[in-house]
Parts: sequence; structure tokens; C-alpha cells
Amino acid sequence: MYGAGDVRVENVPDPVLREPTDAIVRVVWTCICGSDLHPYHNMPASEHVTPMGHEFLGVVEDLGAEVTGLTKGDLVVASFAFQDNTCEFCGEGVQTSCRHGGFFDTAQAEAIRVPQAAGTLVKLPVSEDSALLPSLLTLADVYGTGYHAAKRANVNPRTTVTVIDDGAVGLLAVLSAKQLGAERIILMGRHTDRTDLGVEYGATDVVAERGEEGIDKVRELTGGDGTHTVLDAVGYKEAYEQALGVVRPGGAISRVGVPQYDEAPIGFSSLFGPNLTLTLTGGPAPVRAYIDQLLPDVLDGTVDPGKVFDRTVSLDEVPDGYRAMDRREAIKVLIRP
Ligand SMILES: [Zn+2]
Repeated sequence: MYGAGDVRVENVPDPVLREPTDAIVRVVWTCICGSDLHPYHNMPASEHVTPMGHEFLGVVEDLGAEVTGLTKGDLVVASFAFQDNTCEFCGEGVQTSCRHGGFFDTAQAEAIRVPQAAGTLVKLPVSEDSALLPSLLTLADVYGTGYHAAKRANVNPRTTVTVIDDGAVGLLAVLSAKQLGAERIILMGRHTDRTDLGVEYGATDVVAERGEEGIDKVRELTGGDGTHTVLDAVGYKEAYEQALGVVRPGGAISRVGVPQYDEAPIGFSSLFGPNLTLTLTGGPAPVRAYIDQLLPDVLDGTVDPGKVFDRTVSLDEVPDGYRAMDRREAIKVLIRP
């Protein structure tokens, strides 16, 4: 990406092993993330390229001498942040704060260097041509992020849930809330092709209205009280204010959309008065913590998170993929390098 709206496909040197803990992975599937649209909207134009992409699934091509548990030829999925998965932060389930960690930013490519390969890559027991691969790719980010939102808000069979966002993360937050036992899940979203998938994933109500109107609608649906939990996968201040408007006293707001604001209401009338819990987890969900847990249901077909992908492009068509997601013509775009 060279600036807002300016995505190009270029040849760059092949990645090589730099550390004995690295691996090189040939990318089989990668994709465009909703968070990639933020720089697509506001990155200042530059002559220097910013590589893009943090979700990928592929085949191990080369391994550093210290990488354990993997062999060349393994089909693997990575979490969008790399980590050793052994330090104390990793042990506490915040792999995104790993002492040896960081974030991928070159995954929309034919191949990628993977630091901390042993802690980052998860071997998949399927073949390279398996129809499950798109669903397995969601474990790299969007599914784990949606699940993280639901987990951090402590969604369970006794909680009602509002999900704000009909993008991939919001839809998979609906799926996650359903998996965690929630029986009432209200999805706030305006695009019926997306909310239809949300209903398939377990949403019991859809609210298309936004702002005050949307808040009134959710209140109306919940006897005036709002829901126990609100999962905000959007990241804009309007969504946060909407969350405050629909959360029940004593409830929890969990945000996983990368916040596009630094200031928002936290005072008596918003958070303090109604005894709310706000999980300030920010954007990065420690998805590595959830991959092992979510993998079995994907493998046996109990859930199909890959339905969030509704367009596939080749590497050369990646600029079109960005345009399609930006125009809301696609929920999430798969890239086949
Ligand atoms: Zn660590």
C-alpha cells in the first residue's frame, strides 16, 4: 500500500530465514482484513511501500535449526501475531504481549518469514486442497477475535448479547456467543446479506437502525433493560456510544474493533453509574490461545466460519479485493496467491 486507496502488487525478494527460530511458509490462502481498510482510508501517500496482510495459512518450506514440533511440508495456520507461546505473558493467555512477539504485516504475498515458528504455527491435519481451508484460515484472526470478544465479556447461557458489526468479526462474534451458550443474540447491522449469515450463525434478532434509533430498538426488544453483554467489533466512537446505550446495568462491553478514537465517555452517567465492566482489550486478540480450542469444531464441520468469505481473488486482483470490501460488495475477501 502506498497510500489511501493505492494498493499495488509488486515483486519483492523472497523471504529467508534470519533467526534459528524462524520458518518460511509458502502461502496457500491469505485474505484482506477489515482492519486493512483503515489505512486504505487514511494512509498518507508515500513513495515508500507498506506491505500488507496478517492472516495466512500455508505450507512450511524451510525451518530454522531451533524450531521444534514442525517439519517441512506441514500445512499450518498462523495467529496474526507471532509469539513464543512459552513466556509468562503467553502462559497468562495474552500472547499478543509476548516478550518475543510481534505482528505480521507481509502476509498478502506468496511466501512469508515466520518468527517464533514453534509458538506461532499450528499444524493442520488436512491436505492442501481441503475444502475446510477457508474456515481454518478464520482461526488466524477473525474467528479468534470474535471469540475473544465473547469470552472477555463472559458470555454464557445466562447472558443476553448484542453484537455491533455485521462484518466478519461481528458475524463470528455471533457464532462464538452461540457456541458459548447465549440464547438471545441481537445483531446490529444494516446489510441484509450479512445479517442473514448472522442469523444462520445464531442471531435471534436483527436491528438495522443505528444511533439513538438503534438503541431504542434494542431496549424495546429487551423490556427496556438492554443486554448483559455488548460486543463491539467496529472500533468507531459511534459504536462505543451505541454499546453504552444498549448495555444492561451491571453488564459488560467488550471491544475488539481497533479503536479509531482516543476519547470517549467513561464517567458517572456512562460507565460508573450502571456498574459496567469495560474490557479494554483493544484490537489485538490473543487468537493463538483459542486456536486449539476452536479447531475441532471446524474440522468436524460443526461450525463453518469460512462462510464470511464471499469473494476470492488472485494476487494480481488484490487491489480489486480492497475496493470490493471498501464498497461493502464483499464481507471478506480471500486471496489465492
Ligand atoms: Zn511469549
